[in-house]
Amino acid sequence: MTQQQYVYMFSEGDRDQKDLLGGKGANLAEMVKLGLPVPPGFTISTNACRAYLSEGKVPPEVRVEVTRSVRDVEDQIGRHLGDSEEPLLLSVRSGAKFSMPGMMETVLNVGLNDDTVGPLADFAGDERFAWDSYRRLIQMFGKTVLDIDSDLFSDALDARKEAAGVTADIDLDAEQLKALVKEYKEIVERKTGTPFPQSPRKQLDMAIEAVFRSWNTERARLYRRRERIPDDLGTAVNVQAMVFGNLADASGTGVCFTRDPSSGHSGVYGDYLANAQGEDVVAGIRNTLPLAELEKLDKSAYRELRSAMRRLETHYRDLCDIEFTIERGHLWMLQTRVGKRTPAAAFRVATQLVDEALITMDEALERVTGEQLNQLLFPQFDPEAERVLLATGMGASPGAAVGEVAFDNESATSRKADGHDVILVRRETSPEDLPGMIAAVGVLTARGGKTSHAAVVARGMGMCAVVGADDLVVDVAHKQIRVGERVINEGDVIAIDGKSGEVFLGDVPVVDSPVMTYISDGLEAAKAASDGDVETDELLDAVHRLLTHADDRRRLRVRANADTGEDAERARARGAEGIGLCRTEHQFLGDRRKNIEAVIVAETDEDRQAAFDELLPLQRADFIELLAAMDGLPTTIRLIDPPLHEFLPNITDLSVEVALAEERGESGPELERAKVLLEAVRRTHEQNPMLGLRGVRLGLRFPGLFALQIRAIGEAVVELRKQGKDPQPEIMVPLIGSVRELYLVRGEAEEILAEIGKTSGEALDVPIGCMIELPRAALTARRIAHAADFFSFGTNDLTQTTWGFSRDDVETEFFPAYFDNGVLTISPFETLDEYGVGRLVEIGVEGGRSVKENLKTGVCGEHGGDPESIHFFHRTGLDYVSCSPFRVPVARLEAGRAAVMTRDASSTA
Ligand code: ADP
Ligand code: MG
Ligand code: MG
Repeated sequence: MTQQQYVYMFSEGDRDQKDLLGGKGANLAEMVKLGLPVPPGFTISTNACRAYLSEGKVPPEVRVEVTRSVRDVEDQIGRHLGDSEEPLLLSVRSGAKFSMPGMMETVLNVGLNDDTVGPLADFAGDERFAWDSYRRLIQMFGKTVLDIDSDLFSDALDARKEAAGVTADIDLDAEQLKALVKEYKEIVERKTGTPFPQSPRKQLDMAIEAVFRSWNTERARLYRRRERIPDDLGTAVNVQAMVFGNLADASGTGVCFTRDPSSGHSGVYGDYLANAQGEDVVAGIRNTLPLAELEKLDKSAYRELRSAMRRLETHYRDLCDIEFTIERGHLWMLQTRVGKRTPAAAFRVATQLVDEALITMDEALERVTGEQLNQLLFPQFDPEAERVLLATGMGASPGAAVGEVAFDNESATSRKADGHDVILVRRETSPEDLPGMIAAVGVLTARGGKTSHAAVVARGMGMCAVVGADDLVVDVAHKQIRVGERVINEGDVIAIDGKSGEVFLGDVPVVDSPVMTYISDGLEAAKAASDGDVETDELLDAVHRLLTHADDRRRLRVRANADTGEDAERARARGAEGIGLCRTEHQFLGDRRKNIEAVIVAETDEDRQAAFDELLPLQRADFIELLAAMDGLPTTIRLIDPPLHEFLPNITDLSVEVALAEERGESGPELERAKVLLEAVRRTHEQNPMLGLRGVRLGLRFPGLFALQIRAIGEAVVELRKQGKDPQPEIMVPLIGSVRELYLVRGEAEEILAEIGKTSGEALDVPIGCMIELPRAALTARRIAHAADFFSFGTNDLTQTTWGFSRDDVETEFFPAYFDNGVLTISPFETLDEYGVGRLVEIGVEGGRSVKENLKTGVCGEHGGDPESIHFFHRTGLDYVSCSPFRVPVARLEAGRAAVMTRDASSTA
């Protein structure tokens, strides 16, 4: 029996093992494989974490393997943990498959204690450094492993600095740091009842277990839910020999990107901080240097870094982000990963890499998403509008956000719960601020750069962020922002521009984004409007190339859901290749409502027919407008669908009206009519209208209703053909459950169309199909297909009827609880439930095509615009998706990606 291996040396893994080693571990292993300078170490796999989570303790095998791996590291370096001469120190770092801000933060300098701090000082020849490292260990360990409020440590540090009359922590000398360590140890003992653990191995074991535990913190769960990361992946732990950036000035630590993460340009982007360790560089405690300055400080380390950057980018063939440390002039690589980026950068980087012949166009298509395109379509602040500029920081994550100022999680979440947009304002953010960021539409900080916590997390969440607006005095205690004379209080409205970094007072109106202009008016118009702005033009070209490529590759056609000529034109401009769903119900509201009332209360066929006759020309005009806008393209018109009551007055209002009129002793035809109507409303009242008299049932129950619509469609075709146009309507019958229903409607429709054909001399071959939106329809698709020229899956109703969910009731009522307990990870109304509803779609397609090989199938639920669902529809073999006009570009892109990605998958399978 081979025993399960829990721990892997960096040299054993590679980047494809993210499931086992986590993202950080897998990429560290990959860098080792590339021969880059990585301090030796090992990864405790996610298997170990899952074992810990299920057994509630670290399996003994893990402890044994850790011992062996630590000894391996010791042998590689020739230093030992806890040694009294040249002690080895370790870092303990969490790293799940997906980068997760909620996870435990890194603990550095594990292995330091009262005995090893002296030898470390001797070894480094720097006493100050040794005590600085020790106080950092206690601080990080105290906070992240022992859960001690970090303010206790930072307050003690601040007090110490004040007493010493210095402002920066690097100005504290060895003696002062020694005193600080003493104080820190007292804090630990006071707060936990036990002294700070002195045994290096104990420190290591406690830190490892704390990482495992952190998988289930509130923050981590919240982030996973939001990002839809499964709860059962577990995290890996990376244990690695320490290298020191805090060894005086020839040392330092930094972060960088191989390309600008917001514009995508190749170059030197990053921050460097001399004499610093770990998170100092992103924590905004001292001002960082732009990476290019490193060249002046240490030319050879800088060169080495540049060459490592280039190697990584060539190897990953993508934008990489990198964390590194320089120890006395020697470069060490501590982390890399394919970098998060803004939507604009995603498009630009992808096409730039194509132009540099590092990737193909197909690969480029995989590197951008519909959601990113969607964000590029969001409006921007109107540059012409009058606005009050408060400050300018760095645009760290694009977007235009307007909202009420909130300073903490509580106020952000409660304001959001009250339906307000919120901008979270902090001096700088830390992982504790995640709930507030999730509640906010934008985040604004006074400190920090493009790689600060706020910037990185906001980019990851695709939310607008302005960082480092250092003119702002953010006074969280008094819940105020001060800028010069001006005071902004919590709840005041501000606007932030995540691209330019500008912060405005009050609301600012928005205009179309350049990409939106491109989508609706074309490349030339968009470029004309960009006024020669190079960045914008590059972005427009990138989007255009990728979208065109997606159109080239995709098999799925993309149609739009549109009810009016105006909507249809808009959809067409955005690339819709037809209409998949025209809802005809709104055409019976407003003034026309009274005609429907008349139909329902009619006592004789003649009365009813009179009402229909009045409606006919109106309906015909509706269809002429719609079909003219979609000239030459398929246009699916759904016969009237909603429950009757939606066209009738409210039962309570009407009862009150009648009762009052009677009390006042009124009489006359008005009242008589109201009474008749009330009687009808009472008669047709339903407990559960969504499952009642609607769709095809309505059409069969009130003869003449569908006939009117069908006639209007037929006559519209005749009229348009006379004008030399090419109308392509398709008649769609809603809520079919039985093939018999469809035969009945079809028979009637064919008769009407034939009659119009005869009188007009125009042959009308209008396809007649149905929605598949009841489980029974999917299950009996084989039978229904005989009567249908096409199927369109109405996945909204199909989801309701498959799950037995009434959408409007469940979404607010108990979905939140279902997200909490993990029954749902996302609303099935947003992303198609593949296993259940999706199975019915498959059955429907298979059934239909077993009768008619080329039966046209499409989807017209909201899922038609949802990226994940689109990939499913592609795999299922549908012919088209139909979505709201706004989602058309997204659907085009995702349909192209689906085609490219399934081809990839099948070639490797
Ligand atoms: P995160 O997941 O938040 O990026 P990391 O595990 O990368 O956390 O750790 C944060 C920082 O700690 C790193 O960027 C690096 O500066 C420092 N660090 C981690 N491991 C080491 C090490 N072995 N030697 C020196 N510094 C380290
Ligand atoms: Mg961190
Ligand atoms: Mg890191």
